[in-house]
Amino acid sequence: MKQSFYDLSYADLERVVSENDFNGSVARILFNWYYKKKEITQCQGDISKLSLAFFEQNYDFSLPEIDKVYESKDRTVKFLFKLKDNHKVETVLIPFNNKYSICLSSQVGCAMNCSFCFTGEQGLKRNLKTSEIVGQFLQAWRWLAVNRPGEERILNIVFMGQGEPLHNFDAVKKACEIFLSQYGFSIGVQKITISTAGYIPGLKRWSEEIPRVNLALSLHSPFEEKRNELIPINKKYPLDEVLTYIDKIPLNKKQFITYEYILIKDFNDDPDDAEKLGMLLADRCAYINLIPFNSFPGSRYTSPDMDKVEKFKEVLDAFKIPTLIRGTKGDDVLAACGQLNSNSQQAVDFLYPVSRMGT
Ligand code: SAH
Repeated sequence: MKQSFYDLSYADLERVVSENDFNGSVARILFNWYYKKKEITQCQGDISKLSLAFFEQNYDFSLPEIDKVYESKDRTVKFLFKLKDNHKVETVLIPFNNKYSICLSSQVGCAMNCSFCFTGEQGLKRNLKTSEIVGQFLQAWRWLAVNRPGEERILNIVFMGQGEPLHNFDAVKKACEIFLSQYGFSIGVQKITISTAGYIPGLKRWSEEIPRVNLALSLHSPFEEKRNELIPINKKYPLDEVLTYIDKIPLNKKQFITYEYILIKDFNDDPDDAEKLGMLLADRCAYINLIPFNSFPGSRYTSPDMDKVEKFKEVLDAFKIPTLIRGTKGDDVLAACGQLNSNSQQAVDFLYPVSRMGT
């Protein structure tokens, strides 16, 4: 089987070009064609027939197939992608002022098994390849270009879809390198955020290898026992160790860590929880995202009352920690946080496809 072109970082591509004695500009022209222009046809740039034939023969340029598209009333778009081995993953485009953030998946399923997350119910099937991560972006961009022309502006990338990105570090890192490359997507480093449940081996690599990429930690409870219930890997990598680790990371002036906190009714939504959370984060360079729990078919928890959410925020405001209540987007098509589960018949029954598009 041919290697995917979209698995090559710019450095990899330069190596292939030099090993084959092609003109030094070939890597730049290919990146420009496929990533800056986002073309899917054969490269029409100024490169020799010989080098073009070499890439056509040796590399696969196909992208993950769009199996289904769900459009929410609030213009959120959820894609179900079919991969070569028939596994499926989901990607979400979240709109704001005719621009979009893209929520990418990093694994098929997830090994973290968080008790509040629909994806975790699937277990981990496999890691995604770099090409399958970059491919989600390219296909979503192309769908916008065709279906919402003029709106194909995806300005932020968040690794908050299916999977634990730091558990698939190599592929995620290479995808970030491709997104960041000045010859390709040229996305600013402050526009990419990797969200983790607190997987310390990956955190270590992140801090050494791509520390300028933003980090979000799914915190969800400052109390050991509650966090153990929500995020089982907390037993192996407890929150205090994760935080000690994060504290050592030298952040630049504009950088801060985002702490995500899901609010679950009568579980972690009391002022006491907020007080303890405030104490934990007050002296840290923190930004808090409060996420009202999104229910899904069969979920054991329920969404909090909005007045409790507001109260929770007030307690944090007193600690002077910037806190945002994240609105729920796309929940009518199960595209909101934690509602992604590409395998569930329940989810399929719950949803209805409003459009369908092949590649
Ligand atoms: N594994 C990574 C990234 C995937 S989850 C992580 O744990 O951070 C991305 C965000 O969605 C996390 O903050 C996660 O806790 C949140 N999330 C998961 N299930 C949710 C649900 N049912 N309701 C609201 N947020 C949820």
